[in-house]
Amino acid sequence: MDQRDDPIIGIDLGTTNSLAAFCNDRGPRVLESEGRRIVPSVVRYELDEGGRVRTLVGGVAAEGAVEHPRTTISSAKRLMGRSLADAQADLAYLTYRVIEGEHEQARIAIPLGERELIVTPQEVSAQILGELRRIASDALGCEVRRAVVTVPAYFDDAQRQATRDAGRLAGLEVVRIVNEPTAAALAYGIGLEGDQQERTVAVYDLGGGTFDISILRITPSRDDAMPAFYEVLSTAGDTHLGGDDIDHELVRLFADEISQMRVEYGQEAIELAQMSARTRRALVGFARLVKHRLSEEERARVEIVVDEHLRYERTIDRDELERLMDPLISRTMCACERAMRDAQKKGIASVDAVVLVGGSTRIPLVRRRVREFFGVEPYTALDPDEVVALGASVQASILAGGRRDSLLLDVIPLSLGIETVGGAVAKLIMRNQSVPARATEMFSTSVDGQTQIKLHVVQGEREMVADCRSLGTFILHVPPMPAGIPQVEVEFLVDANGVLNVSALERRSGRRAQMQVIPSHGLTREEVERMEAESFAHAREDMTRHRIVDLIVNSRLDLKWVRERLERHEGDLDPAYARTLRGRLERLEELVRRADEDWQSVDADEFARAKQDLDEQSVRLQEVAIAQTLRGNNPGESDAGSA
Ligand code: ADP
Ligand code: MG
Repeated sequence: MDQRDDPIIGIDLGTTNSLAAFCNDRGPRVLESEGRRIVPSVVRYELDEGGRVRTLVGGVAAEGAVEHPRTTISSAKRLMGRSLADAQADLAYLTYRVIEGEHEQARIAIPLGERELIVTPQEVSAQILGELRRIASDALGCEVRRAVVTVPAYFDDAQRQATRDAGRLAGLEVVRIVNEPTAAALAYGIGLEGDQQERTVAVYDLGGGTFDISILRITPSRDDAMPAFYEVLSTAGDTHLGGDDIDHELVRLFADEISQMRVEYGQEAIELAQMSARTRRALVGFARLVKHRLSEEERARVEIVVDEHLRYERTIDRDELERLMDPLISRTMCACERAMRDAQKKGIASVDAVVLVGGSTRIPLVRRRVREFFGVEPYTALDPDEVVALGASVQASILAGGRRDSLLLDVIPLSLGIETVGGAVAKLIMRNQSVPARATEMFSTSVDGQTQIKLHVVQGEREMVADCRSLGTFILHVPPMPAGIPQVEVEFLVDANGVLNVSALERRSGRRAQMQVIPSHGLTREEVERMEAESFAHAREDMTRHRIVDLIVNSRLDLKWVRERLERHEGDLDPAYARTLRGRLERLEELVRRADEDWQSVDADEFARAKQDLDEQSVRLQEVAIAQTLRGNNPGESDAGSA
């Protein structure tokens, strides 16, 4: 039995969302089937026509939650393995009835027609696990029976046992329970590198309704399958702090302003609490949209039609949202301080890496504050919604005896670079370089007044982007400048875990942008070998193509320069010279046009000669132009754009 016919999957059983992942020699990936992928941790109970109990799981149940508050069970994780007394503080947040069952355990009472159905939190969780099991079985094309399931680091034995029971009820053998922060570290391969170093990692998890910070110590062990030992040194957090609270801040702002607007129009003021449930829900929807948009952009517009006379319109910029949520983020930082203080008692002075988990860590302010607090660039290469499930699947594949070597990295298997003008690749880090590795290179723009510089990160041995594997893109925003003036320093940094951090800094303006990826994910060893072989097969052709693309780009700059000067100074030139120069110019223009259409239709040597001819011929023109400038005849003269 192995990962192929009796696979072990990884499951993140979350408070709000759950998902399953699987790890093979391509690395870990989230499982999906027919669009089902992330399952809201929500179950609704109802009676069918025959009077039998029926359940709706996931998205459908979540959508109907407001209409069916007493029969829709969300956040069951908060009740797992706890007594009614333990769960007291959470009850105010739940819309359904919680009662005391056997052994003082919390039970859920659901009114169904004439009777009341009593279920355990384990049974609710089993419904969610069952749905994930179906998705996984469909996605993998075989019956899935075993899983690694994650739980918060602070879960006690009873809560862990309850999680195992939920698995059993869903027909899943829970082969191991793993701490969520440990899974997050495993997703990044931390501790799997096989080097004999002790490491401290902070896992910062800010979701929708909860915040957790954990400090882990990862020490090498002699176990070949699992080369490191993961220990949770300290945890802190807040079980009622998350993205939902940010939504509420925005809702309050909208509601206050709408109320004020009503007063201005001679209507009565209206408190948030007086607004209908539908209005409030709509406001929350707008708030979340604005919040998500402001994670990507500087500004977002809201437009809410309050009634036929009243339309609320407003632009919110990122600074404003940041001021609103700053107190919330500060609370998370206080928890980080507490966790670090506890870890310090165990001899920890600082952390080596920070992993971000939870949808709310997409917020730039969160990333900034975390970076400042811990003094390291946090890991963001993996989707923060997926990182725990991915890590659980890594643990699963190790338990299944999968090939750990595919997760390991001591050299960079394929070259890494970025796209330059004309679709060519500038390689920064070459294949077979050992990790960690770092490289920087300067780039500029080729168009005047460009305000967005797109950086396209690729992987592969070929010379053209089209023949390489795309790893992602990001945008650097810069103030408008003439072509060639921006100084963009691009840095590639691959750390010991194979995480690639690409950053771009425009030196004149100080603007920065960055992205992270794990280049080895999604590639098998065989594919790496194939890409390598292809690069040998195409080496000559690729080189010629790269040369022609460079010639096109450089010729265009020359042509622009010569054409402009020729128009301005033609009267000062000897007519015979001007004619020759024009001839050369037109010839090169023709070659650029042809090469641009089909690079194979031109001869690279002929092209290079034509460019050189024009360069040589234009020396005289350059002298005339400079002489004129020195005499002050051409105040508009500037050399921007010349090659
Ligand atoms: P949980 O751990 O509670 O299950 P998640 O990790 O799924 O929660 O995170 C959900 C939260 O992340 C929500 O509050 C959602 O609004 C927030 N979120 C998701 N994407 C973004 C984004 N791009 N910008 C800001 N917040 C986001
Ligand atoms: Mg979560």
